Amino acid sequence: MSSETFDVVIIGGGNAGIGVTGPVRRAGMSVAMIESHDLGGTCPNRGCTPKKVLVAAGHALHEIERAAVHHISVGKPRLDWAALIDREKDLIKDIPANLARSMAHRNVEVIKGHAVFAGPNTVRVGDRQLEAKHIVIATGSKPRPLPIPGAEHMITSDEMLSERSLPGAVIFVGGGVISLEFGHVYARAGAGVTILEALPQLLPAMDADAVAQLSTESERIGIQVKTGVSVKRIEPVNHRLRVIFTHQGAEHALEADRVVNGAGRVANVDTLNLAAGSVDHANGRVTVDRHLRSTSNPLVHVCGDALPISPQLSPIATYEGDIVGRNIVEGPKHSPDYGSMATSVYTVPALAAVGLTEAAANQERLAIKVHTNDMHDWFSARTYAETVAWSKIIVDQATDRILGAHFVGHAGQELINVFGLAMRFGITASQIKDNVYAYPTFTSDIKHML
Ligand SMILES: Cc1cc2nc3c(=O)[nH]c(=O)nc-3n(C[C@H](O)[C@H](O)[C@H](O)COP(=O)(O)OP(=O)(O)OC[C@H]3O[C@@H](n4cnc5c(N)ncnc54)[C@H](O)[C@@H]3O)c2cc1C
Repeated sequence: MSSETFDVVIIGGGNAGIGVTGPVRRAGMSVAMIESHDLGGTCPNRGCTPKKVLVAAGHALHEIERAAVHHISVGKPRLDWAALIDREKDLIKDIPANLARSMAHRNVEVIKGHAVFAGPNTVRVGDRQLEAKHIVIATGSKPRPLPIPGAEHMITSDEMLSERSLPGAVIFVGGGVISLEFGHVYARAGAGVTILEALPQLLPAMDADAVAQLSTESERIGIQVKTGVSVKRIEPVNHRLRVIFTHQGAEHALEADRVVNGAGRVANVDTLNLAAGSVDHANGRVTVDRHLRSTSNPLVHVCGDALPISPQLSPIATYEGDIVGRNIVEGPKHSPDYGSMATSVYTVPALAAVGLTEAAANQERLAIKVHTNDMHDWFSARTYAETVAWSKIIVDQATDRILGAHFVGHAGQELINVFGLAMRFGITASQIKDNVYAYPTFTSDIKHML
């Protein structure tokens, strides 16, 4: 077996791994990146980007639904699902090759294969043994395995992004982001959608009032939402699948063409042979210090979805990769700050959020002012016939700083970035209100939201 040495070996060529390459290559370090699948990882190949192509079709259907408001007559829309999937695949097909060129331009040696630790500073891939001063785990995440009899019948987002036929009925087990996003597209395309969530609330990390707004809108478009559900088993029946679950003390059975694992994702680190790398882990989670280094082996750094302490989002993966890269170059100086990271659930319309929920602010016993607005009868919302337009902005009473913002509809997925920017750079609620915005825009409504 040949042995080679590098300054940095990165396992995983997704957002996080690519994020590491910037600082370390600028510092002239030698870098190998090992990727077992497609360069770019989940977000551009099997996540954010292809999903948004389907969400965009959902938006178009939502616009058509409201065309009559503008006195436009349209017939019943018919979505060619196979052609939509082809469009999605076509839009992303060049991404891995473009990234390969970009990595070559950066002088990063990309090695195809599945990497495992062979020692505290050694990684093995195929018949190559790579020694490194620093090893980065940027291996992403995978669907959470569910201990339900028949769980093997469930599909994941990978299949939903590839199946060229629209199912008649779909059941999502778990009411997280993926279930809501795909559920909205499927429902708008005409499929029957049921979401079964174990906890009392869908999207448990999100503001409860925002989720209530989204649940109402989801039900309005025909999605059945059941919370507090315990799924007992999944079984094949007449070329379909039956899900048996208990809800409010009674046992129920529902049939569908597809059952989707929508129970979130877990760090993808179980096949890395972490023990050989002296990398401590508990329940599939690598333990890290505040500089994202393994607590047991400081040569090993973790970033992106493989890191169990932060939201699994693509800009966060890139951000953490950059922090790891800078710590490798400058020593352990940098730590992440997740306080002002905006996020969106791309339902149609979207739920967008940044910072604290009202419950979290109350739990921290902060003195807050909460501005909640149902905006659906505001002029802007009426102009576009918005079906839901809602916001909640949480302001610190003492400092006037924004602590959190939450939207459903009303271009919230764009407006949320204004609040993220304000939170990051300490722009106060009064300053945001005082700004002059282009009019008429949804952003100009911020003045009335506060
Ligand atoms: C359906 C879906 C939709 C999403 N939508 C959004 C969205 O709208 N917005 C958003 O911000 N985020 C979204 N996400 C999350 C986002 O995709 C992830 O947060 C992001 O891709 C994480 O980047 P990463 O680099 O940590 O991991 P990944 O992108 O998963 O990259 C990890 C890479 O490591 C490789 N790998 C794993 N193990 C090994 C090994 N042992 N050896 C070699 N290679 C290995 C994998 O092949 C993979 O390419 C979505 C995710 C999914 C699944």
